[in-house]
Parts: sequence; C-alpha cells; structure tokens
Amino acid sequence: MNKQRTASKSRPADQDRIDNLFSVPGARADRWRALHSAAVDWARGHAGREPVEAALEDFGAYEEFFAYPGQRLVSVLKDRIATGDAEGAARLARRLSESILTRSYKHDTGAWDAVDQSTEPSVELSSSFSTREGTHRPYFEMLVVSPYAAERGALIGAEMRKLRRREDPFVYETVSVPSFEDAVCAILLNPAIAAVTLYEGFEFASRHAAPVLRSVLAAAGFDEAHLRGEDMLLALADGLKRLRPEIDIYILSDRHVERIAGDARATSVRRVLYSVEEMLELHLSVLEGVGDRFRTPFFDNLKKYATRPISTFHALPIARGKSVFKSDWIRDMGEFYGLNIFLAESSATTGGLDSLLEPTGNIKEAQEMAARAFGADHVFFVTNGTSTSNKMVHQALIAPGDIVLLDRNCHKSHHYGLVLAGGQPLYIDAFPMTEYSMYGAVPLKRIKKALLDLKAEGRLDRAKMVDLTNCTFDGHIYNCRRVMEECLAIKPDLIFLWDEAWFGFAHWSPFLRPRTAMGAADTIEKWMADPASVTAWEKQQAELGDNPSSEKLLATRLIPDPRKIKIRVYQTNSTHKSMSALRQGSMVLVRDVDFRTVEAQFHEAVFTHASTSPNQQLIASLDVARRQMELEGYGLVANAIEIALDIRREVNRHPLISKYFRILGADEMVPAEYRESGFVDFMTEGMNFADQVRSMNEDEFCLDPTRITLVCGTAGFDGTQFKKLMADEHDIQFNKTSRNSVLLQSNINNTRSDVAQLIRVLMQICDQIEDQLAQGGDNGRKLFAARVKSLMEDVPDLPDFSHFHEAYRGDAGKLTPEGDMRRAFYGAYYPEGCEYVPIDSAECDQRLKQGPEMISANFVIPYPPGFPILVPGQVVTQATIDFMRKLDVKEIHGYERARGLKLIRPDHAADRH
Ligand SMILES: *Cc1c(COP(=O)(O)O)cnc(C)c1O
Repeated sequence: MNKQRTASKSRPADQDRIDNLFSVPGARADRWRALHSAAVDWARGHAGREPVEAALEDFGAYEEFFAYPGQRLVSVLKDRIATGDAEGAARLARRLSESILTRSYKHDTGAWDAVDQSTEPSVELSSSFSTREGTHRPYFEMLVVSPYAAERGALIGAEMRKLRRREDPFVYETVSVPSFEDAVCAILLNPAIAAVTLYEGFEFASRHAAPVLRSVLAAAGFDEAHLRGEDMLLALADGLKRLRPEIDIYILSDRHVERIAGDARATSVRRVLYSVEEMLELHLSVLEGVGDRFRTPFFDNLKKYATRPISTFHALPIARGKSVFKSDWIRDMGEFYGLNIFLAESSATTGGLDSLLEPTGNIKEAQEMAARAFGADHVFFVTNGTSTSNKMVHQALIAPGDIVLLDRNCHKSHHYGLVLAGGQPLYIDAFPMTEYSMYGAVPLKRIKKALLDLKAEGRLDRAKMVDLTNCTFDGHIYNCRRVMEECLAIKPDLIFLWDEAWFGFAHWSPFLRPRTAMGAADTIEKWMADPASVTAWEKQQAELGDNPSSEKLLATRLIPDPRKIKIRVYQTNSTHKSMSALRQGSMVLVRDVDFRTVEAQFHEAVFTHASTSPNQQLIASLDVARRQMELEGYGLVANAIEIALDIRREVNRHPLISKYFRILGADEMVPAEYRESGFVDFMTEGMNFADQVRSMNEDEFCLDPTRITLVCGTAGFDGTQFKKLMADEHDIQFNKTSRNSVLLQSNINNTRSDVAQLIRVLMQICDQIEDQLAQGGDNGRKLFAARVKSLMEDVPDLPDFSHFHEAYRGDAGKLTPEGDMRRAFYGAYYPEGCEYVPIDSAECDQRLKQGPEMISANFVIPYPPGFPILVPGQVVTQATIDFMRKLDVKEIHGYERARGLKLIRPDHAADRH
C-alpha cells in the first residue's frame, strides 16, 4: 500500500508482508534517516543528487497520511533538491528526520518552520503548541476526506490553525486525502488521527496500488459496487468506526444535512454540519470530542481532592502524609513516593470521591466511560486483580449444582471460584503440546460434545456457563464468535465467561478485536438483527433434518436461531497486565441482555469479594488506563505487535542465535486442523496480510503475535534456569517458563531498543555456548547434546483430567465428567477423614494397581506449568503420578514433599459434614 502504481515494478513482492503493515511508524523514521544521510553525502560531495531523489521516491505514498512534515515542508525540500541546494536540503532533511524520530513536532513549533535555524517561532504558529501556563498541550491529527484534497486540505488546515485559541486544551493538525481507500489507509497507518471529517463527493478508489488495503476492506465486507453516493459517506463513517471505534467522525455537507443526520446509519457520526458556515463549530466539536475521551472523572476529582486542606478524623493515618513526613524513622518512604500519593490517600467516599462498592458519582461515571471505550454495556472496576473478578462472576451467576464447562488448564481463580459458588466443574481438556510441556486451548468440538452429552442425558438445563481463557497464557486466541454461536445453537441461553486477563489490550487492534469477547458479542448482535440470519438458520435446520445425530451436529458448523438466543457475555481482564493500570487493577465487562435479572446477585458478589477499603490510586489508574487507550491505544498496540514481529523475525533469522534458540511460529503453536485457512506463520515466506486477516476471520485458533514462546532447551537450558540467567545477569525479565521454553511478551511499554538489547544478549549467550563447546572437546559436545535431548525429547506426558471419585459424582450422568468439587474440598478440613501417601512410596504403586482408589483432598498445582494436575475429589491415576515423578520443579502448591499427597480416605468420601 506504500507504492505508487508507476513505481510498482521497482518494489519487492513482499510489500504486503504482515510485519510491513505494523512497521510503518518505525519504517518511516528509518526512511527519513536514509534520506538525511543521502542528502549529507550529496552536500559533502561524496555522492550525487540521484540517491537523494531515490530516497524521497522511496517514501511512496506513506507521507500523505501524516500531517508532519506535510505538503508544505516536503515541497520546500523538493525545491531545494531540484535547485541543487544540497546544503539546504541536508539541513532540512536533518531537522525533519529528527522531529519524526523524537516526535518533537508534537510540541515544538519550530519543527513546522520551513526557515532553518529560526530563532523566532513563526508568527502563524507561535504560542499555538502550548497553553497559557506554558505547558505542552496534547497533540493529535484530524483526517479530512474530501474531493480536491490537496487544495482543500491546505485551506482547511490554515483555517483550523486560525481558529486556535490559547485556551484550547489540545492542538491538532490536519491530514487530507481524496478517497475512501486512502481514508482507510490513513487511519490504519497513522495512529495520531483522533478525529475524521468527511466532505461529500470524495472518490472511492485510491490513486495508489494497495493490495493490503483491498484485503482489509474485503475482509470488513466493503465492496465498491455497494458504496456509491451518500451510501459511501455513511459507509465510510461506519467502516472507520469498525476499524477504530474510538475516533470521532464529523460530516460536512453542502446539501440535505438533515437527511444524513436522520439516517439510522448515522449513529457512527458525532455531528453533521452544514459546511460553509461551520468551521468554528467543527473546531469546537473536534476539541470537545477529544476532551470527552481525555476526561477522567475519578482521577480528575482525586487530584482536586488532594489539593484541598482536609482534617481527617477517621482511619488511615497515612492519608495526608503527616505521620510519614514528621517521622524521624519512616520519612524515606515519603521521600521515595512523594507527597501526592499521601494527599491522594483517603478512606472517604465523600468530598469529591465516590464509593467503589456503591458508586453513584465519579466512579460510576468512570465505569460508564470504560464501558463505552471497551464496547461493553457495563464495566465494574475491581481493585483485587482478575483473581477476584473471576470469583465475582462465578458467584454472581452460578448457584450450587449448576454445571460450568471449563478448561481444566485455566487460572486457579476459576477453580476456587467454583469451590466457593458450589458450581460443578465439567472439565474439558485443551489440546496438549507435549513437546513443550504446555496445553493449547479447548477445541470447540469437545465443548459441543459435552453439551450434546448433557442433552442426551436430559441434563442440559443444568449447564449454566462456558468459561474459557482468551487468549491463553501462551497466546492461543479462540474464535469467540464461532464458539458462542455453536454453543448457543445447542443451548440458547448459555452464559459465557471469557477470561481475557492478558488480552484486554486487544480491543485496540482492529485485527484482534473481532476475536475478543466483546468484539464477538457485537458481531453476533449485528448478525441477529439481519433478516438473512433467520433464513440461514432455517436452511440449516432443513438440511439437518429431524433429530440429527451427535456426529452430524459435531461435524456441522451450527447456526443458532437468531430469534431465540441471548447474548450473555462476561469478560474479565487484568488491566494491569496489558494497560497502564497499577498492579491488581482489573475490570469486569458485561454484555448481558438479562443483566437486570442478575444485577442484585452481581452486587452481592461484589460485596462478598471486594474490599471495603479499595485503593484510590488503583481506581484512578483504571480511569487513566481507559483514557490512554482511547487516545493512543491504537498506536501503542500496533507498536507492541510490531516489536513482537521484530523479535520473531530477528531471532529466527539470525545465523548464530537461530542455531540455539527458536521462536515457535503460529504453525507450531496451533495444530493444522485448527488452522483451516491454511495460514502458516507471520514470518513465513509468501504469507501476506490477506492470509493473516483470513486466518483471524476463519481459523478455530490463532496465535497472539505478542506472546512469544522462545525455545531454550535447544541451547541446553530448562525454562526456569534460562529465566533466572536472563534476570540475574542481563536484567531481562521473562514471563513464564515451561520445561524447555520461556514466554516473552511485548506490550505497550516496549520500544525497539528492547528488541536490540534482547538480540544482543542472546548473541552473547550463544557466543558463550560456542566457546564452551569449543573448549569442552568431544566429551563436552556429547554432554551438551545429551542435555538438549533430555530437555527436548524426554518430556513427560501431560496428565489429562482423570475423573471425580464416585462419591462426588452425585446425580451426574454417565457421559460427562462433572462432580461436586466443593464437598471434596471441605472434606479435607476433617483430619480423621484424610490420609497422606508419598508419591515415591511402594504404597502409592500398590494403591494404583490394587486400590482402593486415591482421592485428592486438594488442588495440586506445580509451577510451571501452573495448572492443577489434581483437584479436590479427583482420582489419582498412574498418569498423574508419572507426571509428578518426572516433574523437576521445586514449587508444587498443595503438595508437601515430606508427607506426600493429601488424600481423602475412600471410607470417608461419602461423609456429609
Ligand atoms: C493473571 C491471570 C489471572 C489473575 O489476574 P490477577 O489480576 O493477577 O489477579 C486470571 N486469569 C488469567 C488467565 C491470568 O493470566
């Protein structure tokens, strides 16, 4: 999409490679640097003008989508090149290149000046980048889509600049494009765009060849034939909103504004204005629109509260900091944290603050703004992490005896949530990745099978909820839409809990959003409203015939009855894991048409689990994290993806590093049967962006590119050892480990320097390995090979969930494995009913062979891998013991090495305490 048609022959075929789309901001800075260095060579007489012209040509169409440096400065540069002013061109190229790299144009007026070394800011722009107090104002860009974009754009730009006032809270520049396709390109490539103004009469097709763009448009369902006239105006508004929902859209029209405004599709438009007379109105609306996202009601009030003189006569002596700053003994804490954190501490819920437990003021408002931002109906802030969010959702929606279908491999908060709520877990195993000692995600077929089995036994009414982790720790992303549609086709009122602890950021990527809980719920709701959906359902019903067999239902992609199903979707996310919230800041997102019927229960669950002393700073950080994502989330997430793709490429292509380390591609993380589209990996030769989009749309599982499994067993390290080495000696921290791999992740905090540092350190480690191998001779090489073999091949089989002991199966049916885990859990509270068996003992072997069955009294969770290999009431089998014996980790929660496995004595299992 970055090439002009005329230049296409000179560009390599991998223009639309997946990493290219995400690398535009970084690649832009690189291109400017290359131009600058060509200009310097020219000025010094080391080279001619041609390389400079070629470098400029190389920018292609990219630059049109950015306000800086903009047409004016670029034409000055072109002039200097054309007139042979090598010195002048080099000077300007240096300034532009630096401004782009450091982003100084966002607050430095001088950067916009065509005159070099001006000491005076230009009259036109003076004072416009800072407020009256002299602080920098946040900067954004407005996209203008209009016919005659070049001329009109310059005019609008100048007009908008004239309207700037000192009291404006923000400052913006405009970018103009002439067509629908260019508009889509611009908002995908330029993260600074926060508002869009559409003028009637723009073209559809871009002047530039844009294969990537066409595939994005096609994937989003756009088709030129459908987009003529007024339709195109509203279709573009709708399309831009689908790609970046946070952006404000304005329409300027010379005609029938009333009719446009009255069109049902105009809901995606913030304001429709009559063009000729409304420039000031537009300017004020644009500032107000960004202001609405900038506002952080709770944080704003907390700041105000902190500046007021307040005497407190209740708890929390640390509030106001007097006990700290007057102390001889703990003053360093005050010096370390600064005064504000104490001024902002309060146990009050009045005086400009609000109550998290019963919000009526600015917390309520902050939650409503978060709901809007994340595409939910309701949002609840939680200050004890997603561990608590999950327990809240379980308790709110699950009554004792209800069946919950869940991944045995999920976070412990779900298992404990079920113990507390009394729900019966129906564990479904994810597909195993034995070579790397980890599980993938739960195949939809297995979930459908469980639901159909429940149905066959007349117990489907007991199934209340499907509870899945999206994405998994290792990056497997579900096809949430498909999972929900097919499950709803079997039971139309199922509730879904999607644990998106790691995936909250995904809402801010148009590529990942459709595979989030809220994104999928949105798609399904739109599908339900489409009359064609009923027809599709009826057609499938006719094909399936009466009483279709389970086999047939399992083999069919089921369509639910759009008139019967209910959207009841809950998402939990650790805002602190992927956005700028303080640790433990978490949210519950709700999109439940029946929420009113469970609202009271939901509040009870909040009361059960939430602290009565929630931390003000955490609440404020949730408010601020939302602001950041709404204003710069798109660019930050695109950057995190770029970094991840960089790491993937650099490690796997590096001649030395790739001898010992390897990053697992999508093809290795997701078995082929779940990649129906044929997608291989982001970095595979020949895979382009269209393939990636198709994979995201169709495949059962995709890989989140930001979650990177680095195999280190091939370098002779087990995961834990390698993680420790990197942390202790190189100050690089990794996420989790497996027997032979570590998990890296990129997030909105990473920069390209982090990638460089990682590559440098990996190279050092490889050098050391090579040195040691060279010194160790044959014997050393043999030892190394044996170590690698043991790590990579001698891996224990993963123990699937065995079954609950008969005593805990209650009224369970024959076909499904659910059980009363809570009763088993409490059975462990009675010492006389418990026993211990060491896993290495002869007794253990004998019990496995001859019985009586060994029944786990508690959860046994080794770290890594971090999932419960035993849950209360579960029968211990040979597979479990084999796994535990092979496991060489030190940390096993719920297992005392000295005493052995804690078991419930079979003769006590039936006790009802
Ligand atoms: C981390 C995590 C949680 C718990 O979240 P906290 O915010 O740490 O309490 C829940 N589920 C998954 C999948 C997680 O990774």
